[in-house]
Amino acid sequence: MKLLACAGLLAAAVATAATGAVSQGDWGQYGGDSAEQHFSPLTAVNAANVVGLGLAWSFELDTNRGQESIPVVRDGVMYVSTAWSKVFALDARDGRSLWSFDPKVPGARAFNACCDVVNRGVAVADGRVFVGTVDGRLIALDAKTGRPVWTTRTVPDGRPYSITGAPRVFDHKVIIGNAGGEYGVRGYVTAYDAASGRQVWRFYTIPGNPVGPKDGAASDAALARIATPTWYGHWYDYGGGGTVWDAIVVDADLGQIYIGVGNGTPWDRRVRSLGQGDNLFLASIVALDATTGAYRWHYQESPGESWDYDATQPMMLSSLQINGAVTPVVMQASKNGFFYVLDRRSGKLVSANNFIKENWADGIDMSTGRPRTRGDIFYDKSNFMMPGAIGGHSWQPTSFSPATGLVYIPAQEIPFVYAPDAHFAFRPGAWNIAVDPSAFIPPSDAAARKAMMAMAKGTLIAWDPIAQREMWRVTHDGFWNAGVLSTAGNLVFQGQGSGRFEAYRADSGAFLWGFDAPSGIIAAPITYAVNGVQYIAVLSGWGGIAVNASKGPQQQVAPPGRVLAFKLAGSAKLPPQTPIPLKPPNPSADPSTAAQLAAGRDAYSRNCGVCHGFGGIGGDILPDLRRASALSDRVLWHAIVLGGVLESNGMVSFRKYLSAEDAEAIRAYISAQARLLEATPPATSSALP
Ligand code: CA
Repeated sequence: MKLLACAGLLAAAVATAATGAVSQGDWGQYGGDSAEQHFSPLTAVNAANVVGLGLAWSFELDTNRGQESIPVVRDGVMYVSTAWSKVFALDARDGRSLWSFDPKVPGARAFNACCDVVNRGVAVADGRVFVGTVDGRLIALDAKTGRPVWTTRTVPDGRPYSITGAPRVFDHKVIIGNAGGEYGVRGYVTAYDAASGRQVWRFYTIPGNPVGPKDGAASDAALARIATPTWYGHWYDYGGGGTVWDAIVVDADLGQIYIGVGNGTPWDRRVRSLGQGDNLFLASIVALDATTGAYRWHYQESPGESWDYDATQPMMLSSLQINGAVTPVVMQASKNGFFYVLDRRSGKLVSANNFIKENWADGIDMSTGRPRTRGDIFYDKSNFMMPGAIGGHSWQPTSFSPATGLVYIPAQEIPFVYAPDAHFAFRPGAWNIAVDPSAFIPPSDAAARKAMMAMAKGTLIAWDPIAQREMWRVTHDGFWNAGVLSTAGNLVFQGQGSGRFEAYRADSGAFLWGFDAPSGIIAAPITYAVNGVQYIAVLSGWGGIAVNASKGPQQQVAPPGRVLAFKLAGSAKLPPQTPIPLKPPNPSADPSTAAQLAAGRDAYSRNCGVCHGFGGIGGDILPDLRRASALSDRVLWHAIVLGGVLESNGMVSFRKYLSAEDAEAIRAYISAQARLLEATPPATSSALP
């Protein structure tokens, strides 16, 4: 395999020179360096000795909510964000806490986070640590003390935006996006002055109301000229979507940044845009001038996006030898199941191929760059599609190793049935996807559920980005697997939802080493060196979109998240832990009617399922309502569902969306599900996505 891949690393060196010193051995930014390859040149830990890796230290976090964060390590200090947008600074040698910061996000804001109150990381530059919060603030902290230097609100009040992604820093500017594409918002990214928090530029990813006032933003010209002609109807009444909730990558060589743009709101284009148009820049990679935020180019992966095919997945920069020429490229394993290589000078498609089984496109047309779609994929009726809304790959970082020339993809195969929602009505602030919610409900029959689970697969795929083909794969037990790190020591590290953390040979995929964490792992590992000792670190903590999906048979409440750091001959032990058993099912004894159960099933699916688990089958983090004390207590149930007494935990009042009759119907439905659980032997009571 012929490959010239150092350009990304050189670019990284240039970029870091602009943003503050990064020492040899640091994991200086979210993606390792600004090329975001999630690759380390460190070789002290390598394929020959990794078998001797042991726990160096662990740090227990104050929550069992999902942990998706990648720590940044600078000069022996680890800066790590956790659930609820909190930040810890730890001594990277021993995990000793140096300071912590809690932005005190109001619990009710959890309602606006589609997929748990996670945070994916901080940026560190100019002596400051930058973090985005679930309630939409961008905060600069003093890196020495953790004290806030400035705070800016990046989202409008009263709209269901949230932030879970990591900020990026370039040329003394902090760039941040936001989330909320399932609720009803309009996506944008904003650059702020790193010293003061003052806004420098903003780029909206989709048009607003064409007859409304102009945004006065960097996006105005490109939206008017390129995007607006691709939209129809009254999409702006729904927000329209297009949030930039994860990948933002800085290209110092070309002075531009790449943003990954999310899905449309609602998902069903017939509701959003009269069933017409590509709806730019949904589901696209867009390049912007890093200094001004002006549009440079775009590439749309999923025209007319209708399947939650966000193009927000991590992007890696490199330079590959393509047809005899060194070509600067940006690469992405998209949620839609295709691996894309684009020329980052122009956005021109270099190549694309599917990295998982998919059934919606017969490849990508190289002359137009558009997918050759198969049949009717716009679900005029119900449509069984692979990948589904969880995607062939999501936010979990991919890695590119210049040493092997391979990309490592945490992939999954999870089909989904898209069916139109005959009863869709836009509800401000709530989920607004216009997809039949019963599509999410797993079958209640155990055999059918087992068959469904057998279809869902999680894999680590090693992918040759030049030949666009798979070189090896490791198939995991669970479908939801973690982000990836590769190193020049011929190693690939990856965690799994089971809590398993493993190392493989980067060239062959051969298993080399493993460790079992008490909680599931979804975050990507990092590696760094302090005083000549190389460490591998990763956060454990099950959650994210799978917050409602168990990682296996549910026996106990999920243990707290942790930072785990490993080194050769490490001999630390995890603190002992007393398992907290799950409570038994607790159905109400009150009688119910068939009509009430049907109404409860529909109301639950529309309002509750995304957090508490579809079909009432919860995970082990947010309460499984079949086991809730309140289920058998009518007064307490109503006090929570309508009265909002648990708002500080994130369980807001649903009075806006549900009547007392609805709340009672939901209680009847969950009670019926609890009785089914009672009748199920414990060994087969594992929950489903
Ligand atoms: Ca989405």
